Amino acid sequence: MFRFWRKFRLPKGTPVEVEKIEAGEQALSEFLKHTQELISFYDGELRLIQFAAQLGTVRNGSMSIGASLFDIYPGVATGEARKAVDKVLATRAPMILNIATASNQGMEAWAFPAADGIGLIEVANSPARRAEAEHNRLMYQANHDVLTGLQNRQRLSDRLKEILAATDGQHTRSALLQIDLDDFKSVNDTLGHGTGDALLKMAADRIRGVLQEGDSAFRYAGDEFAIIQFGKDPIEAESVAQALVDAFKIPFMINEIPLFVGASVGIAFGPQHGTQSEELMKAADIALYAAKGEGRGCARTFNRSMMLLIEQRESLRRSLRLALERRELLLEYQPLLRSSGKVVGFEALVRWDHPEIGRITPNVFIPIAEADGLMDEIGRWVLEEACKQAMTWPETLNVAVNLSPAQFLGGSITDIVAQVIDSTGINADRIELEITESVLLEETVDNLDTLNTLNVLGIRISLDDFGTRYSSLNYLKNFPFDSLKIDQYFIQNVEKEHKSQTIVRAIIGMAHGLDMMVTAEGVETAVQAQWLIKEGCDVLQGHHLGQAMSAERARIFASKAGAPRRRRERVN
Ligand code: C2E
Ligand code: MG
Ligand code: MG
Repeated sequence: MFRFWRKFRLPKGTPVEVEKIEAGEQALSEFLKHTQELISFYDGELRLIQFAAQLGTVRNGSMSIGASLFDIYPGVATGEARKAVDKVLATRAPMILNIATASNQGMEAWAFPAADGIGLIEVANSPARRAEAEHNRLMYQANHDVLTGLQNRQRLSDRLKEILAATDGQHTRSALLQIDLDDFKSVNDTLGHGTGDALLKMAADRIRGVLQEGDSAFRYAGDEFAIIQFGKDPIEAESVAQALVDAFKIPFMINEIPLFVGASVGIAFGPQHGTQSEELMKAADIALYAAKGEGRGCARTFNRSMMLLIEQRESLRRSLRLALERRELLLEYQPLLRSSGKVVGFEALVRWDHPEIGRITPNVFIPIAEADGLMDEIGRWVLEEACKQAMTWPETLNVAVNLSPAQFLGGSITDIVAQVIDSTGINADRIELEITESVLLEETVDNLDTLNTLNVLGIRISLDDFGTRYSSLNYLKNFPFDSLKIDQYFIQNVEKEHKSQTIVRAIIGMAHGLDMMVTAEGVETAVQAQWLIKEGCDVLQGHHLGQAMSAERARIFASKAGAPRRRRERVN
């Protein structure tokens, strides 16, 4: 209301009904949305208050509320055009302006009084305006990503150069946030590029949603985005990054399917992390890599020690190629116990005894092996070694082996399993293969075929880390898993957290309803074990029942523990 009085200077007390006033305002904003006229409104200080959407488009997205008329039309700042604007303000009578433009052709505009300030319409037929509109359109295309409407890689690099040139380090700083979507590739590969594109658009909107005034956002590669902040406190960049990470925790609904695609963010500040755009990009990239390495779905700010980490990883990558040959990989075995306390078998967990670094956990080196195409070879060795060990245990004990999604890509996993069964002489029904949901996400149909073939061989398949990723119940309907392993995340506080209890109870009920066994991972206390047994969980695994141990100790543990009389019975 107040804005309306101000804008149109109605004398106070004019008997206009409120609804009519509001309808008028609405009509004006609809008009500005749809008109092809390049019209804009300025207040008494000549700051932009409203403008036609079309003007925003041809001006390359550079129109921002509060900007000065002289920044938008530099040709008005001086000379005849300036005098004419002052005259419109003083006399409240409209005038034609001749505005100087960069192309030297000049542009005509119609300036008229509007509320405290003026309105301006570029005169449509002036050749300069047409040339400028075409120029702006081409500039827009060259600088923007067609899919998301964000600025593109070229613009990112130009803008970085601009802000770094204007950054003095003392008072003016700049921040570069690089954003990478987690698991975007799986969505694209399995649900198709249409879904991938829809997701990228929604992701761009979420990024726009966290921007603060003056920030700009870019899409510079497939699923890689960036934000630039200029002249703000570093803490602002970190809070934008956190807001972004949080915004990506909400699933994306596409065709009624909820897709969980998180965002990892790397932050670097100019000038301290880089005075050149390439240098700053590299620093943000390294920070992003660190965020990915620390579990993804988080933001990290660059520091020099990250460089060291990268170098270490590079050197690990090189030595991993030789690790198998040098017999540096080994397996440990963690017992799996029935709720009655009897040992059902062991899960084989791979480790790397690096000659200089010492023991390295699989969470560190398996992603490297996967990225380097070494997982087939390592996976084959693990399976063979685990089955050989199992042959030294009482034959009622099973062995569980983890399969990485990368092992499914080669397409020879069923042959490898058959060969290992042959060469070790193990009964197929003593082998349990643990897969994660990501296996089912990638090339779903083929992988389902593979799992079915393994099932036919008599091998059992369990779904590992259940509950942490997509947990699409579709998989459970389409594939007859023998068991679900509830991720330790839900077990951690199960004795005291009502929400975890509800989830665990629901998973147990659902699995039993589908004729699957349930294993709880990461059981660390007696109270957790008791609660899980009471709720009907079939198998327990965790430090409370037994840590991962050497092959030798596992053999002793197995012989002492004895074995259940009948395997595959359910105790609950
Ligand atoms: P996972 O298959 O879910 O294995 C369980 C992990 O939880 C193991 O970590 C185990 O040591 C740990 N754990 C067991 N009980 C507890 C507990 O009570 N508390 C806590 N905090 N942790 C517990 P680990 O050995 O570091 O293995 C991590 C992951 O690496 C495994 O998760 C699995 O996904 C992968 N992995 C291990 N060995 C292999 C392998 O041979 N091939 C493949 N593809 N992946 C493997
Ligand atoms: Mg496992
Ligand atoms: Mg697990």
